[in-house]
Amino acid sequence: MPDLPDVYADDAVLRSWLSRLLGADGLALADGPLKALAAEVMGPLRAAHRDAESHPPVLHQYDGWGARVDRVEVSAGWERLRVAAAEHALVALPYLPEARERWGAGARVVQHALLHLYGPESATFTCPVAMADGAAALLSRSDVDAAVRDAWLPRLIATDPAVAITSGQWMTESQGGSDVGRATTAAFPAADGSWRVQGEKWFCSAIDSAMAVALARPNGEGTGSRTLAPFLIPRYAADSPLAQPSAPGNSSAPGIYLHRLKDKLGTRAVPTAEVSLQDAYAIPVGDPHSGGLIRMMTLVVITRLHNAAAAAAGMRRGLAYARAYADARSVASGRLAENPLHRSTLAMLAVDAQAAFALAAHAFALLGRIEVDGDRAAEAELRLVAPLAKLTTGRLAVASASEYLECFGGAGYVEDTGIPRLLRDAQVLPIWEGTTNVLSLDVVRALNRSPGLGDAFLGKLDAAIQQSTDLLIGGAMDGLRAARFALTDALAAAAADPTDQRVVAGARNMSLTMGYALALALLVEHAAATGDEATKVAAELWGRARLAADETAVDAHQSFEILCG
Ligand SMILES: Cc1cc2nc3c(=O)[nH]c(=O)nc-3n(C[C@H](O)[C@H](O)[C@H](O)COP(=O)(O)OP(=O)(O)OC[C@H]3O[C@@H](n4cnc5c(N)ncnc54)[C@H](O)[C@@H]3O)c2cc1C
Repeated sequence: MPDLPDVYADDAVLRSWLSRLLGADGLALADGPLKALAAEVMGPLRAAHRDAESHPPVLHQYDGWGARVDRVEVSAGWERLRVAAAEHALVALPYLPEARERWGAGARVVQHALLHLYGPESATFTCPVAMADGAAALLSRSDVDAAVRDAWLPRLIATDPAVAITSGQWMTESQGGSDVGRATTAAFPAADGSWRVQGEKWFCSAIDSAMAVALARPNGEGTGSRTLAPFLIPRYAADSPLAQPSAPGNSSAPGIYLHRLKDKLGTRAVPTAEVSLQDAYAIPVGDPHSGGLIRMMTLVVITRLHNAAAAAAGMRRGLAYARAYADARSVASGRLAENPLHRSTLAMLAVDAQAAFALAAHAFALLGRIEVDGDRAAEAELRLVAPLAKLTTGRLAVASASEYLECFGGAGYVEDTGIPRLLRDAQVLPIWEGTTNVLSLDVVRALNRSPGLGDAFLGKLDAAIQQSTDLLIGGAMDGLRAARFALTDALAAAAADPTDQRVVAGARNMSLTMGYALALALLVEHAAATGDEATKVAAELWGRARLAADETAVDAHQSFEILCG
């Protein structure tokens, strides 16, 4: 493997967005924590990542004496990544009063930067981080019982690894993941006022976490998704050391049984279990008979944003690796980094990575404005941006990962180079937390329920068309105009009748076009605000390639230095 760049100092895209979204003072304050994390990523955490990837978790259902324990043994590397996640406040930062004081709404921007540095070589510890953040946001809601919040939230947002915990999220059942309304897990009030849960959960990631938020149907409620409610389930027996859930001697709480761990294509270090709940103790998160699904969406929006961050970060790190290899590797015509065809390939990957980053960065910035400023316009915008960012970056990440493997030739297919996992781990991104189809239908639903959203979206494109005209970014202008033309009728049709066959069948194309157009509008906006040359070039090439169906190869080759450094 060639020498790799500094994941923070050499990431011009990250630094340019941070400087705009945080301002000079905010960036100066974030510089220390980001440098500290980057230094760990390039040293011990890279080693921990490799260790966790090569020592997948093991389920021990029984102890030596035959007692059922359902204990998951994880690697030292996984534990090291857990410690780093807590110490660097990956979950905690946006909840800490001092961070909100320092960065205001930008606390979520700083968190996104931390995730961007940490994620790609974290053996997917980003998964428990995402779910812990989702659980923390859920528990922070004002309609959640303060006693429940006070008991669990401080641990979810602790920066002391001895205290910090993560969370799972148990929604999917074998009869339906996308359609949670089919859930058969039921919750019953017990005589002592607490609740018990009965059911089978089919995909429970980070099963070593100290708690999970599970969807269950309170006894007596009708069918469908709207009667489901979130319940907090402590994962371990009461006397277990919560901070070290995989420690020897630790066992499942009564009524929680792990059938087996999933043998997955990727995310191999993440223990994902099939779980049986047999009268397991559960705590309602809010009123179980009212608004449960809406509360659960607080969590789901957060994990969708983390998914987008992971996709975008993986693309940037893949580019850094492939770029470094292009300097080191020679082919028939000389160094790869001087070959026009390879330069063009890498440059277009860099453009994709910039577009994905713009979507993730914007989504986190909106979230911060909602949480800290109570910004209603940001809330309305995020209703569309969350599914669009998740679905667009998920698809881009898989396509890019495949290209990155190819950039390494045969070495990209050989396990001990560490490269193949880029593709394996990317493939989960379009699946969990809503597949591309399911999120596309969510976009249609949002357009139908809030008719103003479509107009606001087109308004954003119009503003970007004006900016790209002012900046003379012709490709962006062409791309935005093409998208606006294609979307005008599609958005109106979706708003009018979300069940119309043409709307349903066309939902995926419409949503991907929206995602591409949104990314382009954000790149143009960023270029207008900063004058950043690399962003202008990315907007030009992205608009032409993704939306205006124009050939970009030669221009991409000529823009290699500015896009790939
Ligand atoms: C690595 C990994 C980790 C996971 N971890 C968790 C976890 O921790 N907790 C959890 O709850 N779940 C988890 N999941 C499950 C994941 O969220 C579901 O697999 C996902 O939501 C899809 O549900 P499904 O598997 O039932 O597929 P299905 O819903 O059966 O989907 C099958 C196909 O049908 C399509 N489809 C579904 N509905 C529609 C529709 N209405 N219109 C058009 N097309 C449709 C989908 O796009 C897909 O292509 C995990 C999955 C993976 C792969």
